Amino acid sequence: MTDWVRHPDPQVLTIPLVGADGINSVTRTYTVGATALHDGGMTLYRGVADLPKMLDGETFILVTADDGCRLIAYPVSAPIARSGSSRINWVLLVPDRVYEGQTPVLGESQEAVRRILGSLIGNWALDFLDIEAMIEKSPTIKSDRLRDRDPINQWSRSRVVLLGDAAHPMYPIGAQGASQTIVDAACLAGAIKTEADPFIAIAEFVSARLPQTNNVVLANRKMNREELEHVGTASSTRSEKFRTTTSNYRQAVRDRTRPHSSSVGHNTIER
Ligand SMILES: Cc1cc2nc3c(=O)[nH]c(=O)nc-3n(C[C@H](O)[C@H](O)[C@H](O)COP(=O)(O)OP(=O)(O)OC[C@H]3O[C@@H](n4cnc5c(N)ncnc54)[C@H](O)[C@@H]3O)c2cc1C
Repeated sequence: MTDWVRHPDPQVLTIPLVGADGINSVTRTYTVGATALHDGGMTLYRGVADLPKMLDGETFILVTADDGCRLIAYPVSAPIARSGSSRINWVLLVPDRVYEGQTPVLGESQEAVRRILGSLIGNWALDFLDIEAMIEKSPTIKSDRLRDRDPINQWSRSRVVLLGDAAHPMYPIGAQGASQTIVDAACLAGAIKTEADPFIAIAEFVSARLPQTNNVVLANRKMNREELEHVGTASSTRSEKFRTTTSNYRQAVRDRTRPHSSSVGHNTIER
């Protein structure tokens, strides 16, 4: 990256280097220095399975258990839906306390992951989703920690600029990380296309997107916190509380990702 920034060819000096290298970005470390990963105390298991049609074939579901486990599942394929089935993308969030003091190990074999899932949710009886089939028919089940990083107020250094998870890693519970990454890419591409000076293009991109995505990072943390609080409440009122939290989250993301929404950061041009 240092070679890129100080390249001898003047042509190269007009080209930005985009760091889209994810949550463990080395470009980020170059750009803003080391920043701590924040662990949300949970393991996520996720998969995709082709199953019989779930409910009306369009519904997003969130199921919570008294131990704090949360299952999110929704259909992701219109062609499969047209054929009368559902391709279900699912994520199970498991708080560390469920493992009774043992920290779960990531990267277990598929067999071990399926065994863990069987013991965690194998006995859930849902009339709209066959949990056993969901686990069995997911070709690969991935496990991750629930992680993000604190929002920062700078994404660039010289002609090096961050986007996506490198810039704003967020809890995935609000399903926004990839969407925000795509908006970043479109915004940066637009700025580079219309602005010949790469420093100005980068500054325009950062000042448009940094405040918006920082707000989404914080909105995801808030939603996670609230949902964990709701888990311990009476089941008669729990659904309503979850609905309110989800709808507040959606509203917050909509409001705060509008152009010119309020800023929690700033950007300066550094050459
Ligand atoms: C369980 C879970 C569920 C999610 N669900 C959703 C969802 O429903 N909706 C949504 O919008 N988002 C979701 N996300 C978030 C989404 O996956 C990320 O926000 C998105 O992938 C970020 O894209 P990215 O391109 O910035 O980073 P990544 O997708 O992480 O891509 C970074 C790429 O850079 C490569 N790379 C890294 N370091 C180097 C290096 N040194 N040299 C070369 N290459 C390198 C990596 O191999 C990788 O290919 C979820 C995330 C998780 C963990």
